[in-house]
Amino acid sequence: MSKIIAVVNQKGGVGKTTTSVNLATNLAYLRHETLLIDLDPQSNATSGLGIDKNANPSHIYRALLGEVPLKEVLLPTAIDWLDIAPSHIDLIGAELELVSMQEREMRLKNILTPFLDVYKYIIIDCPPSLGLLTLNALVAADSVLIPIQCEYYALEGLGQLVKTIELLRENLNPNLEIEGILLTMYDSRMNLSKQVVEEIKKHFGDKVYTTMIPRTVRLAEAPSFGKPMILYDKSAKGTLAYLKLTKELLSKQPKNIQLQSAPEAAAEIQLIKVEENNRLQAEQSPIQNEQTAPEQPALEVKTN
Ligand code: ATP
Ligand code: MG
Repeated sequence: MSKIIAVVNQKGGVGKTTTSVNLATNLAYLRHETLLIDLDPQSNATSGLGIDKNANPSHIYRALLGEVPLKEVLLPTAIDWLDIAPSHIDLIGAELELVSMQEREMRLKNILTPFLDVYKYIIIDCPPSLGLLTLNALVAADSVLIPIQCEYYALEGLGQLVKTIELLRENLNPNLEIEGILLTMYDSRMNLSKQVVEEIKKHFGDKVYTTMIPRTVRLAEAPSFGKPMILYDKSAKGTLAYLKLTKELLSKQPKNIQLQSAPEAAAEIQLIKVEENNRLQAEQSPIQNEQTAPEQPALEVKTN
């Protein structure tokens, strides 16, 4: 059975897409069959993986409306073990068109059912609203990952999101859980970042991941190259932070999900540990920084 994680925060620009793309990529990198669903008409997760967001005649919108089967929408990516259901700007019409349809909140859940034995993880990148698209994600999901930007208005709107999750638990999705709260764009030089972290921890306790995502130039650059961090700069701080997050998330999964992982995953995790150690050593050296980090990752990229 798949674990379906919706990445949600109705606040814009908090790192939902960056988190969805890099979490999905890293899960695949660790040999978990993963599907990334781009449920945002902005299609940033689609283009962030180097896929032309205007070139796909089949996209998630058409599958939601029942015009094409989801199978026809799925595309392979440059990362083995990772597929994507691309988005399209037309998805903006879905909010309106779905309103009059039967079971309008259940459509994503229904089309995903045949794929629950195909993928181990399904990550859904949601738009910055609590409209019908996000509702579909929350009905389909087992859990919600909430990225929160370390800034002054971080807590704004969170009450509404938590209330929405509680309402869903009472009605449409009784088993919906909060997977975790991820602090993004953390800047250790700013007292404000530290204050936000304290405040969020007061509210959400151990739901807050110990891994925080730093604000880095590399993370901001990667989408314009259409690459997830692990292909863009394997040893950058942001890459390692998202790898650490992925491992933290995996460590919190029930045993039966973890045990399904292929034996190769253990070797990969070992490799990542070595890379992290190298990274820490490099950080202690005053001359090496992100700019001087080794060039490209020795990763195999699919060409077909
Ligand atoms: P939206 O609500 O519009 O969908 P979002 O929540 O998906 O936005 P992102 O698109 O992931 O947010 O990030 C917003 C912007 O901040 C993007 O330009 C992204 O490249 C950049 N960004 C995300 N995370 C970081 C980070 N840790 N450091 C620096 N820049 C970042
Ligand atoms: Mg986004």
